[in-house]
Amino acid sequence: MKSMPSRLRLASRRYSLPFRAPVRTGHGVWAERTGVLVRLTDEAGRTGYGEAAPIPWFGTETADEVDALLKSLGEWVTPVQLDAVPERFGCACFALAAALEGAGADSQKKHEGRAHLPVAALLPAGRAALAQVAEKAEMGFRVFKWKVGAFDLADELSLLDDLVAELPEGARLRLDANGAWDRRQAERWLERAAERPVEFVEQPVAPTMRGADDVLRGLAADYPVTLALDESLAGACDVERWLAAEWRGVFVVKPALFGDPRPVLARLAAAKADVVFSSALETAVGARAALRAAFAWAGFPEKMEKTGKPRALGFGVWPLFEGTVFNGPRAVPFLRMADVEALDEEAAWNALS
Ligand code: MG
Repeated sequence: MKSMPSRLRLASRRYSLPFRAPVRTGHGVWAERTGVLVRLTDEAGRTGYGEAAPIPWFGTETADEVDALLKSLGEWVTPVQLDAVPERFGCACFALAAALEGAGADSQKKHEGRAHLPVAALLPAGRAALAQVAEKAEMGFRVFKWKVGAFDLADELSLLDDLVAELPEGARLRLDANGAWDRRQAERWLERAAERPVEFVEQPVAPTMRGADDVLRGLAADYPVTLALDESLAGACDVERWLAAEWRGVFVVKPALFGDPRPVLARLAAAKADVVFSSALETAVGARAALRAAFAWAGFPEKMEKTGKPRALGFGVWPLFEGTVFNGPRAVPFLRMADVEALDEEAAWNALS
């Protein structure tokens, strides 16, 4: 174990990167990713990188708030100072924890965890999904994620069977509503999904809906389809609340929003929670840290025994950006840890100069 550095030099670079194709979700159309890369360098010159990739409509801080926080910390920081950053800066804390680890403040022990994990193929919303299934199945994908709640409900419902018909043998479909439905609409979907190869339905109603937690628990109890919480988990304290409520559905974990993700991931593993790791549409820098957390998660072996395989990663999103250095690992049916370790944080940092 290396010794804890007494102080580190903090630098940050804000970025605004247009997506290669705008991302359409139940929240609307998202055209450009804004975030902040951070770099910490100790006095011996050891350097670590991290990324704050906020999603304000999830309830995270904004990129402006990350900027202001980093400026308030100044050029030289101590690990104690970094530890004292308030928890509500979940994205900034994630960036700083990753950079601190990279700078050698933590032990640089060899990665212990899985060598590879399956990945879900991301399909576009609406009818455009149909044209992509065959190609992705050919590549080897067997889990597909389709964004719903983006178009007219009846149109989307009628597309579901067309989409199911395109799926290869044994494949499963994830439906992600991004909280776009009301309770009645969610019920119609859950009824329809019950007899289809649907792995789970993600965030049927918004966490901002009146009594959302009760509605989600009610839907989970009333329908056989597994439900997944995503927008309902905007930070580590939300995970704690749903663990306390003994949620038996899926926890969609975007490590990028969870501060230093290690404590909350340990809690999820101890609770034998059903976890899907997911991208926050971050760059290669955040992707590396988030995927390292996923590959190291101790909860997977348990799932291996129970279901035969871990849930596919929700990281089938890259290439998201025009600049190659900003992209996380290209979407493939099985991601190797070696591909994660190969991501070049320094190149992404330098490309923003
Ligand atoms: Mg989602």
